[in-house]
Amino acid sequence: MIDLHCHSHFSDGELSPLALLNRAIDSHVHVLALTDHDTTAGLLSLHQAARDSDIKIIDGIEFSVRWKKYDIHIIGLNIRPEERGLCDLIAQQHVSRMTRAQQISARLIDCGVHDAYRKACDMAGHERIGRAHFAKLLINEGRVPDMKTAFKRYLGQGRIAYVPTAWLSIEEAVDGIVRTGGQAVIAHPLKYALTRSKLHELINAFKVAGGVGMEVISGETTDVQARELASLCCRFDLLASTGSDYHGGTLSRIAIGQQRPLPVNCTPIWNQWKDLNL
Ligand code: AMP
Ligand code: MN
Ligand code: MN
Ligand code: MN
Repeated sequence: MIDLHCHSHFSDGELSPLALLNRAIDSHVHVLALTDHDTTAGLLSLHQAARDSDIKIIDGIEFSVRWKKYDIHIIGLNIRPEERGLCDLIAQQHVSRMTRAQQISARLIDCGVHDAYRKACDMAGHERIGRAHFAKLLINEGRVPDMKTAFKRYLGQGRIAYVPTAWLSIEEAVDGIVRTGGQAVIAHPLKYALTRSKLHELINAFKVAGGVGMEVISGETTDVQARELASLCCRFDLLASTGSDYHGGTLSRIAIGQQRPLPVNCTPIWNQWKDLNL
């Protein structure tokens, strides 16, 4: 099994890289990419944890980008985490994320939730706070019953605590990934509520920027969705990627390495990874 999309507690996942690795081994994953949001901070721990196992670790990241009025996620695979240009982009995203978190926190005061940024940092154990951390806080404070409701009432686009963010552009993110020798992949293309013509526009902009892949399977993708995405890959000449988008036990319905298989008519992105010996 190959899983090229998951999160650790270095972003908004619940598990350490070591715990993730153990779950991956239990699920018979033999190629695993850690793709934390806008950070590579968990990669070293994952490599250390995987030293004595047969599992192949792919260095990854999930960049948040702003495209038109949409927040889009672009996965980088086989990146070089220490490369200067990439580190600069990550530093830029870090500032955007912290600024946004403080603005979200200020908005939540109007809803009667005080000190949300500090509480979220305490909960996360770091400052790379995302909306999932605020969602958990809103659950802890008894404001909402679950994550979905937290996004629907407070954190989703157009809601009271939604703050538009100056994320990287598609061109900056894709270029940053490609320059480190990595491959850029559009994450969960059906999660952005784009019309089909907008999705085609996104794919065209992504390809012009140097992107080569698209997730055909991501977490709970259905069979019908997978077939549609596979035919989009054929139409736009994109390589297919697959991942669970696992965030940890209580946050994800699909466990690490448990996503459905790629449809047979698409070309897996790892076909061009020469040293994989698959
Ligand atoms: P951010 O990168 O901070 O904007 O947060 C995006 C993250 O929030 C996603 O990667 C998911 O982990 C989580 N998320 C987004 N929408 C939802 C939702 N409707 N329900 C649960 N979690 C969500
Ligand atoms: Mn997430
Ligand atoms: Mn995502
Ligand atoms: Mn993700």
